[in-house]
Amino acid sequence: MCQEDGKRQGVVFNIQKYSVHDGPGIRTIVFLKGCALACRWCSNPESQNARPELAYNAGRCLTLEKCTRCLAACPREALTCGEDGKLRIDRSRCEGCDMPCAEACPAQSLLVYGKKRSVEDVLAAVEQDAAFYTRSSGGMTLSGGEPLLQGEFAVALLREARRRRIKTAVETCGMVAPETVRAAGPWLSYALFDIKHPDSAVHEAQTGRPNARILENFRILAGEFPDLPILARTPVIPGFNDNEEAIRAIASFLRPFERVTYELLPYHRLGTQKYHFLDRQPPMGDVTLAEGVLPRLQRVALDILGERVQIPR
Ligand code: SF4
Ligand code: SF4
Repeated sequence: MCQEDGKRQGVVFNIQKYSVHDGPGIRTIVFLKGCALACRWCSNPESQNARPELAYNAGRCLTLEKCTRCLAACPREALTCGEDGKLRIDRSRCEGCDMPCAEACPAQSLLVYGKKRSVEDVLAAVEQDAAFYTRSSGGMTLSGGEPLLQGEFAVALLREARRRRIKTAVETCGMVAPETVRAAGPWLSYALFDIKHPDSAVHEAQTGRPNARILENFRILAGEFPDLPILARTPVIPGFNDNEEAIRAIASFLRPFERVTYELLPYHRLGTQKYHFLDRQPPMGDVTLAEGVLPRLQRVALDILGERVQIPR
C-alpha cells in the first residue's frame, strides 16, 4: 500500500455490496458525495451536497412530546420543535457535525448521509469480497454523486485498488475537471459515462450546467484511453430527452468512437422518500415514462450504432 494514498480521506455515503449493475460481474459500489450537476430526476438527492448531511425520517420519530434527546444533543441549536410536534432542522445552523443528534436518537429517525473515510478503510470493505470479483470478473465501482469531483480521493482509491489487483470502474456524469479524467483514466478497467442531452441549453435548463465540458471529457476518455471499455448511457427522462431527435443526436455523437457501447436507461422514481428526509420536494412530481417510448428510442439508437447498443433484459 502506498502510505499517502491509503491515508487520503473523502466523504462516502454508502458502500453497496453484491451489485450486478454498474459494471461487469459482481461489484461493490462505493458512493462518493458531491455533484456539479443538479439533475431534476436525480434518484440520489443525498449525493448532491459534498458535505455530510442530516436527514429526518418523520415517520419514525417518537415526537417531541415524548422525546427531546436530539435537541439536547445538538451543540448548535439547529433543532427545534414544529407546531405538529415533529422536528425542524435549521439547515443554516446545522453543519453536519459528528451528528451527536443521530447518535442520541432512540428511534433511528435521524440519519447521516456521508462520512469521512480513508482509502484504507474503504478498500478494507471492498476487499472482503475479492473472491467474488475473481470468479465473476467483477470489482469496485465508484459512483455518487459524481465520484471524480473528489478527484484526489477517487484517483487514490482507483490506484490502490488496482495495486491490489481489484478491477475498477467509475460511473461518471462527466462534469469534472479534464485533468481529473486524465488522472483517473490509467487506473480504470471500465467506465460508465452518462450523456444526457445533445442540446446545451436544454441540458443546462434541467441539470443546471451546459454540456460542453461533459462532451469534452468524453472525447478525452475515449480518445486518450482507447483500450478502456466505455458504456455510454442516457437516462430517458419524460419531457427532457424522451424524443427521437435527442437520442439520434447522442447516438450520432457516439458513432465515431467504435469501441464505445451504448445503453438507454428507463426513468424511475426511486429516491422520492429521500427528498422528503432532506426537507426537499422531488422536482419531477408524479410524471412517468410513457409506455412504448423506450423500445422506440432503442430502435433509433440501433439504427445508428447497431450491435453496440445494449438492451437490458
Ligand atoms: S448534525 Fe450536528 S449541528 Fe446538525 S442538528 Fe445534528 S448535532 Fe446539530
Ligand atoms: S431523538 Fe429521534 S425520536 Fe427523539 S425527537 Fe429526536 S428525532 Fe424524534
